[in-house]
Amino acid sequence: MKNQYIHIKTESLNNHCPECFSTEGLQLSFKQKHNETRFYKAMTNDITYELKCETCNSEIFPVRWTNDIERVVDYKKKAFTPKPKSFKLKRLAWILLISLDALILLGILFAVGVIKI
Ligand SMILES: [Zn+2]
Repeated sequence: MKNQYIHIKTESLNNHCPECFSTEGLQLSFKQKHNETRFYKAMTNDITYELKCETCNSEIFPVRWTNDIERVVDYKKKAFTPKPKSFKLKRLAWILLISLDALILLGILFAVGVIKI
C-alpha cells in the first residue's frame, strides 16, 4: 500500500521567520493523506501542515514557532477546507468483482440445472 500526502494548497504568512527574520518567506503548506493500493484509491481526512521559509530555505518545525506564528497557523487551519473523503475502486478491482459475479451466476445456473456438462 502506498500512503502519500498530496499537496492541497500553500498560504503565505506575513510573520517573521524564526531563522532569518524575513517577513516574506514563510509558506504554510496543507497536505492530505491519500492511500493507493492495487485495488483502490482513497482520500482520507488525515491532514498535515508544513511551514517553510523560502528566504532561508529551511523547514520551520513547530518547536521553533513563535506565539504569533502559532496563532496565524491556527487561524489558517480553521479556514482550510480539506478535500472530501473519497474512495475509488480501480479497474483491477472491478474486473475481479465482475468475474466473481459471473462465476457465482454460472454456479447458480449449474446448480439449478440450466447448464449441464
Ligand atoms: Zn527564513
